[in-house]
Amino acid sequence: MSAGNGTSAEQGVWVAPGRVNLIGEHTDYNDGFVLPFALPHRTSVTARLLPGPARWVVSSSFAAEPVTIGPDDLVPGRVTGWAGYVAGVLWALTDAGFTLPGAELSVGSDVPVGAGLSSSAALECAVLTALCDLAGVDLPVADRPRLAQRAENDYVGVPCGVMDQAASTLCRTGHALFLDCRSLAVEHVPFDLATAGLAMLVVDSRTPHQHVDNEYALRRSTCEQAARQLGVPALRDVDDLDAALRALPDAVTRRRVRHVVTENQRVRDTVDLLRADRLRDIGPLLTASHRSMRDDYEITVAQVDLAVDTALAAGALGARMTGGGFGGCVLALVDADRADAVREAVAGAYADRGFDAPVAFLAEAGAGAHRLR
Ligand code: ADP
Ligand code: MG
Repeated sequence: MSAGNGTSAEQGVWVAPGRVNLIGEHTDYNDGFVLPFALPHRTSVTARLLPGPARWVVSSSFAAEPVTIGPDDLVPGRVTGWAGYVAGVLWALTDAGFTLPGAELSVGSDVPVGAGLSSSAALECAVLTALCDLAGVDLPVADRPRLAQRAENDYVGVPCGVMDQAASTLCRTGHALFLDCRSLAVEHVPFDLATAGLAMLVVDSRTPHQHVDNEYALRRSTCEQAARQLGVPALRDVDDLDAALRALPDAVTRRRVRHVVTENQRVRDTVDLLRADRLRDIGPLLTASHRSMRDDYEITVAQVDLAVDTALAAGALGARMTGGGFGGCVLALVDADRADAVREAVAGAYADRGFDAPVAFLAEAGAGAHRLR
């Protein structure tokens, strides 16, 4: 190992970001479209190879002591808690046929945890990027999101879509990632807020997530059942919404389908505007997405509806909840010089209603996973 600058092949620092989804909610598991961008917040992994029999010594501020993961632990579910996300990546790589040398991995992060900004994907993707470089694993970058998703789905046991891992791995600075969740085709769409004189306020509603897993599973199965009823592989394939709605006898199912189909179209429309350098004009699509989640998909809660309505009343060009729902974060697209006023209006409205004070920050589209040094 070379001493001093830490840039040897045997050690280094890798980072992967959290993300927000600009638009396209609950479209991923319907084989549809999403449009996330990477946050400046990121998780870092400082890693070095360990000589001797393969073992992985992992530390994080999440635990006082490092956790040692051995080859016997590379069985889904064996390591639980935060280190399970790391073990999941090790397992997914091993399961894909790669042989990994032992390593020491030290995790640090400024991605808010459990706020819907995907600290879990940031962790998986930082670990995966580090291991690929450190161990010379020849896994094309385009294949990494699926592998990181496997870690979370099959090892940790969380049934998430592939968006978070794709965003954390593939995003580029100043761009949003237009992702086709069926083919995994990606397009980097210009999303440069500062140049347009705009800002994106991210408001963490700090709502306790309740019944999220249950409600998520319910929405998912309703969509799958509706696709079967309509004779299409997935709701992404519904071309004629009116005809589809006429064919569905159940009113709740009709609302769910209408959300998914119209949301896919809103993603495409947003992408068209961004390609045409009309970032300012996406506001109404964001707001329409929120109304659709509130009224048709029924996944919003009072805190997020209040943040959206207050932001709009205070001059936001558009606002929506982002993420799976029942809390999490709200995005508000604002003129840069209105950001503080909108932030204060939301804080004031929360105080008036006796809600916990929201946490807000401004987000620019950052870079995907990469080696720092
Ligand atoms: P999020 O919306 O932030 O992805 P999740 O519940 O999916 O929420 O993932 C959060 C979990 O990911 C944490 O409880 C922890 O187990 C793991 N995690 C995230 N960041 C870190 C970190 N820096 N160190 C250790 N574990 C982490
Ligand atoms: Mg997560």
